[in-house]
Amino acid sequence: MRQYLGVKADHPDAIVLFRLGDFYEMFFEDAVIGAAALDLTLTSRDKNKADPVPMCGVPHHAVRGYINRLIDQGKKVVLCEQTEDPRFAKGLVKREVTQVITPGIVVDDGVLDPSCPRYVACVVGDGAGAFGLAYLDVSTGELRATEEAGIDALCGELCRANPREVLLSGVSDRARAHLTRRYPSAYQVLEDAVMSAAWAAQRDAALAARTGNDRPLARAAAAEVVAYARATQPRGTLPITEPTIYEAGDAVVLGDAAIANLELCQTLMGNHKAGSLLAVIDATVTAPGARALRRRLLYPLTDLGHIRRRQDAVAALVERPVVREAVRDQLAQIADLERIAGRVLLATASPRDLGSIRTAAGIVPELSRTLAGVGGRELALDPAVLATLADLEPRLSASLADKLPATLADGGVIREGYDDELDEQRRLSSGAKDEILAIETDERERTGIASLKVKHNRVFGYYIEVTKAQLARVPERFIRKQTIATGERYVTPELATLEARVAAADDAARAREAALWNELCAAVAKVAHTIAEAGRELAAIDCTAALAEVAHKRGYVRPVVDDGAVIDITDGRHPVIESLLLAGRFVPNDCLLDSDQRQVLILTGPNMGGKSTYMRQVAHVVILAQMGAFVPAAAARIGVVDRIFTRVGAADNLSRGDSTFMVEMRETAAICTGATARSLVLLDEVGRGTATFDGMSIAWAVAEYLHDAVGARTLLSTHYHELCQLADTRPRMANVSVAIAEHGGDIVFLHRVVAGGASQSYGIDVARLAGMPDAVVARARDLLSSLEAGDGPLTSSPPAARARPRPAPAKDLLRSRLRAIDPTRTTPMDALAVLAELCALAAPDDESAEAPHFVM
Ligand code: ATP
Repeated sequence: MRQYLGVKADHPDAIVLFRLGDFYEMFFEDAVIGAAALDLTLTSRDKNKADPVPMCGVPHHAVRGYINRLIDQGKKVVLCEQTEDPRFAKGLVKREVTQVITPGIVVDDGVLDPSCPRYVACVVGDGAGAFGLAYLDVSTGELRATEEAGIDALCGELCRANPREVLLSGVSDRARAHLTRRYPSAYQVLEDAVMSAAWAAQRDAALAARTGNDRPLARAAAAEVVAYARATQPRGTLPITEPTIYEAGDAVVLGDAAIANLELCQTLMGNHKAGSLLAVIDATVTAPGARALRRRLLYPLTDLGHIRRRQDAVAALVERPVVREAVRDQLAQIADLERIAGRVLLATASPRDLGSIRTAAGIVPELSRTLAGVGGRELALDPAVLATLADLEPRLSASLADKLPATLADGGVIREGYDDELDEQRRLSSGAKDEILAIETDERERTGIASLKVKHNRVFGYYIEVTKAQLARVPERFIRKQTIATGERYVTPELATLEARVAAADDAARAREAALWNELCAAVAKVAHTIAEAGRELAAIDCTAALAEVAHKRGYVRPVVDDGAVIDITDGRHPVIESLLLAGRFVPNDCLLDSDQRQVLILTGPNMGGKSTYMRQVAHVVILAQMGAFVPAAAARIGVVDRIFTRVGAADNLSRGDSTFMVEMRETAAICTGATARSLVLLDEVGRGTATFDGMSIAWAVAEYLHDAVGARTLLSTHYHELCQLADTRPRMANVSVAIAEHGGDIVFLHRVVAGGASQSYGIDVARLAGMPDAVVARARDLLSSLEAGDGPLTSSPPAARARPRPAPAKDLLRSRLRAIDPTRTTPMDALAVLAELCALAAPDDESAEAPHFVM
């Protein structure tokens, strides 16, 4: 127990899995948490003592599955292994922490999603509102860092990187509360107080070694996250390189709202990849390619030169279908070199991992020849990478067997003929095995037992088996070892001698093979960083080839990207909706935004007309263009955008304690303050979440502000047709609407965007299409005509409703109750309770005999 308590003291924030024989055990509080989290039976040690220790355990062979379940629940796990063979241990078996596994630090290939990076991040605050952010994927060593000027920008960047775990250092209580409130479950917030000794040591070293005055916050965050990660691997080297420091302006800024609303990587409903923009354009054939494509999508470029280089490369492969197909075929045979290089450095690579490097090293020169002269820098492999792989290939081919086992312990990793000593031991072993087999024939003859067999199992090694019927014939020299249902098992001195020879030769062969394997791994580890680099370059090629494939298959075109202010899309399509409809069913639409006459477009039209689709497709075209891809349009000219803001749909944030309207206003406020003249702003029905006049006034004022003060290219959809009047007074505003046809009393959605504002909403027609009862539809039409005629709806109410007017509510009580409600802090359950209470207050006296009951 003392040994256990020592480990636990150094890892107070983690669940310690302590190896005892064939089990990993948890004790004390860890056992209670572990039993609940893993559905295990909680028992106790020293049951008879007054204060028994709670414990529970998992079998060693199944430990990976249990660890995964723990980290999925946001827990941190410490593996404490026996580091000497218990058979030879004098006294207590030595145990050491071999690995710390946290939600953000996972190196087990079975847990990692091949197409997604898994980041652990660190946020460092400077106390004055600025932050450094670094995020690290320990499986590949990818380490990026940046600085953000405020909490909103930080949140946007965190949402993009989507880390599984975030360390906060020097962050104010307010910022901490903001972060944890905004990301309630996805984030593991760790604090300095829980630092283990190993972590603290790594941290001191990392912070001391930090170089450069440039971007100190970003570098501090990088140093912190690296220290944290290094401390989790006491036995291996993490494949970490120098941080890539980037500026917020290097990529189009996409806030968390835009990433979610535009459904870039997952759908709003259900969070599925299918149905997202990524799913449509992800035609990559390798895992690193898929990860790189995701990154390109989330970080569209702002640098024209870089965008055009990528476009050139995509164009080159669009124009050369034969090359494209050959490249994709070759890439598909190459494994995940980035993560394999990581495992080599961590000393956890398997024989098949090295086999994959061998295969890649064989294919890459071929691939390089296929791409010779095609597509410039984006499609070229670095000569140093090619040279390293060329050096490695003969060595791996000469030493590794053709067919490789899953683990070194399975044997047969090193090729025959590579090492004389290994070959000799293998020969001795198989010679002795042949002699053992010969014993079977020999003994059958000598004893006359025709059914006598020589067999082998792990417990007894080699033995002779004789069935019951033949037992009388067994000679005395056979030494009985075991009785089984069907007969007896024996050994003979001759068999034992041969077996010892086999065992000795096998041991020697295993030791020799292990030594050769370690030599080979060490040689590969020396060039692991170059192998990872090869992985990154191949990923970029895969990305480019995939975008070319998509462009070809879906009829996308190369957009002109420049630094002008115009966004001019001819026959643009929504990439996702188009892919879901039958060919030719999607109605393409033009879009012209500029800084002279069409800076703000007010988009009106009926529900279901296609307004949201239109707005999103403009953003998708811009994003695809700036990631260097082709776009779903007949032609497009995109003046580079610096930020994309969206206020689309009713993002339901009730679970975070915000009302829908509050979220809407918060996002709209962020747009008004954050947008620049180079930004693209999409506002879908701003102000609809509140009373009509309030909502319309807000939408009106926001449109004016974006036009007058910000100058951002803006698409604003609304059902308040009054906003169409803005175009008469504002020079850079124009009206567009989605067209509709009326046919025999029915409405037909044309999904076509035309010049001019809409005159009607057709809301009631859509309600009818949705299956609203006829009586409701008729009544709604009735009410609408009286409203349009300027009458209040009650004047046209049916007599029955008018006959019994509601008595006035207890007005003062109602008002004071309403004033006491803070919508920003009302949960959905509270809201229901308050609603019930308000109804009771508003009910006539005779209906509410009791005094109202306040719940808040
Ligand atoms: P609401 O005002 O109710 O939010 P909306 O005007 O925003 O509606 P959308 O949600 O964009 O309408 O589109 C409604 C449906 O019409 C979508 O499900 C989509 O499949 C279809 N649609 C939209 N645009 C097109 C188009 N250009 N071609 C074909 N179908 C379209």
